Amino acid sequence: MDLMFRSTRNAENKVTASMAVLKGLADDGGLFVPETLPKLDVSLDELAGMSYHETAYTVMKQFLTDYTEEELKYCINHAYDEKFDTKEIAPLKFVDGKYYLELFHGATIAFKDMALSILPYLMTTAAKKNQEDKEIVILTATSGDTGKAALAGFADVPGTRIIVFYPKNGVSAVQEKQMVTQKGKNTCVIGIHGNFDDAQSGVKKLFSDKELAKELAGEGFCFSSANSINIGRLVPQVVYYVYAYGKLLSSGALKPGDKMNVVVPTGNFGNILAAYYAKNMGIPIEKLVCASNENKVLYDFFQTGVYDKNREFILTSSPSMDILISSNLERLIYRIAGDDAEKNAQLMQQLAKEGRYTITDEMKERMEDFAGGFATGEETSEEIAAVYKKTGYVLDTHTAVASFVCRKYFRQSKTDLPTVIASTASPYKFARSVMEAIDSKYSGMDDFDLIDELSRISGTAVPRAIEEIRNAPVLHDKVIEKDEMEKAVKEFLGIA
Ligand SMILES: *Cc1c(COP(=O)(O)O)cnc(C)c1O
Repeated sequence: MDLMFRSTRNAENKVTASMAVLKGLADDGGLFVPETLPKLDVSLDELAGMSYHETAYTVMKQFLTDYTEEELKYCINHAYDEKFDTKEIAPLKFVDGKYYLELFHGATIAFKDMALSILPYLMTTAAKKNQEDKEIVILTATSGDTGKAALAGFADVPGTRIIVFYPKNGVSAVQEKQMVTQKGKNTCVIGIHGNFDDAQSGVKKLFSDKELAKELAGEGFCFSSANSINIGRLVPQVVYYVYAYGKLLSSGALKPGDKMNVVVPTGNFGNILAAYYAKNMGIPIEKLVCASNENKVLYDFFQTGVYDKNREFILTSSPSMDILISSNLERLIYRIAGDDAEKNAQLMQQLAKEGRYTITDEMKERMEDFAGGFATGEETSEEIAAVYKKTGYVLDTHTAVASFVCRKYFRQSKTDLPTVIASTASPYKFARSVMEAIDSKYSGMDDFDLIDELSRISGTAVPRAIEEIRNAPVLHDKVIEKDEMEKAVKEFLGIA
């Protein structure tokens, strides 16, 4: 029996895993969730010796049951190859009493690569399985990292096109340069005058526009999503939490059954939700600590049970977490509502209308796996400087948010469990903020000079992803108003 996926907004809407990957978002605007969260079918001891690829297969086959073993292994082997600069794929580094799970060794040096290097394979395999012969058009809104990772994953993949929208003034210089220099005939990158939530709302609107879908179908196109709402992104992210547990076992830091904590720098709530799924699969995780920057809508939610996006949007030094509508939270809401699509749909309607909703006390009790914390810009900079001065290890701004929150959580909860921090980006990607945190003398220096200086003071090589963009020509320079997104899509597809 295949595991089926249901929409969080309509219990009747059920599809196979491969259809869920292909569609991205359910027709009713809901997100696909597995009918039941699967368990691992190996013992914890067995995880200890597994490679990343073996772990990936062990985890993913439990979710994506309508993919054959051959298909799934093909996807895994093509995703996690030399695009990563280490065979370990996701190394676990022990620094200053914490375990940093480095998720930034892929093509674009941020954790989005962990899922986006496999999504194109999962998706084109899904298209074949479901006799989908239309060209797949990936529409993506990005707060900086998803965009480049999706572009890198889908560039020149036959049968696909990809369009990325990013907030023109809301991403780092390196992030923007990475995107606008993207090669590949099937790629399109557009800046919008607005913030990430504008871009994301615009994309969601295009997805739910039935008339547009019909028009596109007539021209031989169908939309799909590479955003973290696609279950094909969530499932590959479960893998590295299972892998980290296996590594802690093989290093002797844990015995099978011992618990660990996990701290995740959070924006759209995809990464931490994957950790929650790992816990549900049987990985002994004590707390899932959700770390926010100054856009601390999630922190407030965990404190009060009120989700309220009606607040000032703050541009921070951790732009990939500058988000007020955390899309993947909907999957948790659905779950703590007792898998009740109707209840969830009501709350999401309130969110769309009033920008806020309140959950019941009973629902709040079901969130006890989670704890929340946040770091201000100053605390983030201090964390980078402190860790560097003590150990020589350089954190990026997102990881530093989590690292600070972790430190605070240790103090408050007096936990002594091994703690894994999801390290979501290479410091090279946010060199300016990182270097200015370490020493104010670096302000005013050119971006690429800062990168060379970072290499010098950290004793690490400049990643390939940075070398590639140093002198690359800009290939995408379009900037539009936020109400012109549909027009831009049609222009790129050649349907006026
Ligand atoms: C996307 C991203 C995050 C946030 O992850 P979510 O899954 O959206 O919560 C954190 N850090 C970096 C560097 C990112 O790119």
